Amino acid sequence: MHRISKMSKSSHLSRTVRCILTAAMAALFLLPVESFSWGFAGHRLITKKAVMAVRPHLRAYLLPIADSLSAHSIDPDLWRKFDRAEGNRHYIDLDSLVTFPFDDLPTSYPAAVKKYGEEVIQGIGIAPWRIAEMVDSLSAAMKQKNARLILRYAAALAHYVEDIHNPLHTTKNYDGQLTGNKGIHSRYERWMVETYLDQLDSAIHPDPGSSPGRRLMPMIFNWLRGSYVWVDNLLLADRLSKTPGKRYTRNSSYDDAYYERLFRHTRDFTVAQMSKAATAVASCWQLAWNRAGRPKLNFLHAEIAATR
Ligand SMILES: [Zn+2]
Repeated sequence: MHRISKMSKSSHLSRTVRCILTAAMAALFLLPVESFSWGFAGHRLITKKAVMAVRPHLRAYLLPIADSLSAHSIDPDLWRKFDRAEGNRHYIDLDSLVTFPFDDLPTSYPAAVKKYGEEVIQGIGIAPWRIAEMVDSLSAAMKQKNARLILRYAAALAHYVEDIHNPLHTTKNYDGQLTGNKGIHSRYERWMVETYLDQLDSAIHPDPGSSPGRRLMPMIFNWLRGSYVWVDNLLLADRLSKTPGKRYTRNSSYDDAYYERLFRHTRDFTVAQMSKAATAVASCWQLAWNRAGRPKLNFLHAEIAATR
């Protein structure tokens, strides 16, 4: 398994201290130091923004549980620790199988499996189909008016949708390991995002009230294409952010100057991708609710507050 989950850290800790803590924790659990998706802080932030982007009728039901949705949006990264099947649900290495714009890959899971075989499809990652599964599960939970399941699936759906808006979740070069950018995954999505969280918070503006397309899979593959196109820019930004002549042998070699430059080079598309992610999450929640017949969910807040 080439991707494992991460731990959140207080943003006020210095990067050096955080690196030492990370190394200590990794040694403790005998796990390599890698990270995935937008980092805990990034997921929580995007999910919070997504709630604000939902159209008014559904937003009235979700707003009172926004904190719970945001908090639980990291859960799928925690599930990885206990469930081996969780690993490949967070990404799809599109370019390991087909070339951009990936039209040769069928958007339906049975058709993709028929064309390439189940082992291959499971091997490249199944994020788009996991998202579709979560939309169905959320829709069923809304129909059943099951508050616990609504929270579980809405938060998990947010997580997977947010993951695929990180360009590194769409490529076989997910950690820059093929191009001399090893470690870029956690430097970008975790350390950079945590360091500049306040700036991202004020810059992320999802499209409020955007209506979901009826055909989910083409919409998901459009999001994937829109994410993948930033891979090269991100890897170039990593190269440009290093001080010429300096040796970067370990995590602690990446100093504040590196992260300041990385954020400057990637800020615009990172804000755009996070904003699009929040819009996409809102669209998926809306779609699930529409498919459920737009039930009244005014019991959500009381039931979820009671289980806390
Ligand atoms: Zn993830």
